[in-house]
Amino acid sequence: MASYDIIVIGGGPGGYVCAIRAAQLGFRVACVEGRETLGGTCLNVGCIPSKALLHASHLVHEAEHNFEKMGIRTSAPKVEWDKMLAYKEDVVGQNTRGIEFLFKKNKIDWLKGWGQVTAPGKVSIGDDLHEAKHIIIASGSKSASIPGAEVEIDEKIVVTSTGALALPKIPKKMVVVGGGVIGLELGSVYSRLGTEVTVIEYMDGIVPGADAEVAKTFRRILSKQGLEIVTGAAVSKVETLKTKAKVSYRRRKDDSEHQVDADIVLVATGRLPFTEGLGLDKLGVKLTPRGQIAVDGGFRTSVPGIYAIGDVIEGPMLAHKAEDEGGALAEMIAGQKPHIDYNLIPGVIYTTPEVASVGATEQALKEAGRAYRVGKFPFMGNGRAKAVMQTEGFVKLLVDKTTDRVLGCHIIGPSAGEIIHEICVAMEFGASAEDIARTCHAHPTFSEAVREAALACGDGAIHA
Ligand code: FAD
Ligand code: NAD
Repeated sequence: MASYDIIVIGGGPGGYVCAIRAAQLGFRVACVEGRETLGGTCLNVGCIPSKALLHASHLVHEAEHNFEKMGIRTSAPKVEWDKMLAYKEDVVGQNTRGIEFLFKKNKIDWLKGWGQVTAPGKVSIGDDLHEAKHIIIASGSKSASIPGAEVEIDEKIVVTSTGALALPKIPKKMVVVGGGVIGLELGSVYSRLGTEVTVIEYMDGIVPGADAEVAKTFRRILSKQGLEIVTGAAVSKVETLKTKAKVSYRRRKDDSEHQVDADIVLVATGRLPFTEGLGLDKLGVKLTPRGQIAVDGGFRTSVPGIYAIGDVIEGPMLAHKAEDEGGALAEMIAGQKPHIDYNLIPGVIYTTPEVASVGATEQALKEAGRAYRVGKFPFMGNGRAKAVMQTEGFVKLLVDKTTDRVLGCHIIGPSAGEIIHEICVAMEFGASAEDIARTCHAHPTFSEAVREAALACGDGAIHA
């Protein structure tokens, strides 16, 4: 038995950041992780492997479609799928080993195995019992299924994102159920590699919750890239035959029934909090109606001494949200008073073009009856975008009509996921569009499109 100040259960972005920050603050810390490697969903089967495959498949697309336009003559690229998967695994390994190194550097004990909270202050891993003043649950999430549909996920033909990141071969036909972030990122990967991809989304548009104008443009661009997108459709059945599957769905607008065949069906209908095996019911830890661990503003659960952060509690299921909560909780336990502004957590979709947003959407401002102005600038007017042949999309800035304060920003275009941070910082500082417009931006950069959108909130952009 070992005794700690803090035991964190789960070594994902929430848990490992919490452990490292707590160690920096002088606590004696252990982190329990049941996987073979640290880093959680994000590093092992989420953010990192998906971005590696998005990068590799984007280069295939560039070689096939844009090299010749730039005067680069090569033979058509040949994808060696096993090597592409090995590259992805190598990237994952570099990242997960990196966390192991950081644990050693910060003298954090990695307790290997699946942890259970047997009583406040007590964590068991198999027969081993450990003690800690504070127990932090960062157990993450798992893939959801298709509610109301007959479907069995076998991770061979009917797969979640985990199976889709490690398919034995590139499928000829793939049906993606769910036009959200995972469906569109992984749908893009396979579409670029030659798979015929059909996305079936329940709602009337893709990425529900995104700025409606961005979502509409995004759909148009993805359709042009070859993804077939069906919206307003409920999947009722996924039948698995020997090596194929048959997906039945019903379109809401005319109640018509349809069927589509696929080699692989990717179920990407969202994720659910993962609380199995933690022993929470016996302890009386309260859950929300959606099965998340209920916490107060200090990440305290209903049982004193037990806290929860990340995907397993309410809020967007994003790695950086989990990381921020991990850092903030360690600081709170140390008596500091950190603050997370949940309105300023950016969301990024790593397709080409990328989609990034922060703050309020236009529809949310309308619903709230807020007087606002819109400044928009298309990448068509951006020199750098022209140079890299990525002129599709725009920057859309939403500002308060009277004060000019930035309320939200929605970008679809090159490196949107990088340039959004200028707006995150601006909003943290309560900046106005004029503040951004008067800030010198290097030329030629994609960020100039942000400045132009800010100018468009005033007298007008220069290059539009
Ligand atoms: P997790 O990362 O899920 O980590 C929880 C860990 O706890 C797991 O390793 C699990 O094994 C362990 N655990 C659970 N119970 C126990 C127990 N009893 N004992 C021991 N260990 C336990 N987010 C982004 O921000 N950007 C992206 O680009 C992005 N891409 C994604 C792509 C995919 C395909 C997926 C599936 C997700 C993606 N996400 C992305 C979401 C992101 O992965 C999660 O939001 C993030 O990992 C949540 O962190 P967490 O620490 O709360 O949980
Ligand atoms: P999501 O919530 O982004 O999308 C799920 C989609 O499935 C929604 O559009 C929803 O309307 C649709 N849907 C739900 N039930 C359906 C049904 N029966 N039939 C058809 N469509 C249905 O969830 P996801 O794409 O599975 O991703 C899970 C989580 O992982 C998300 O919270 C996301 O934030 C996170 N993630 C983030 C990134 C990123 O930040 N780039 C990448 C991947 C995953």
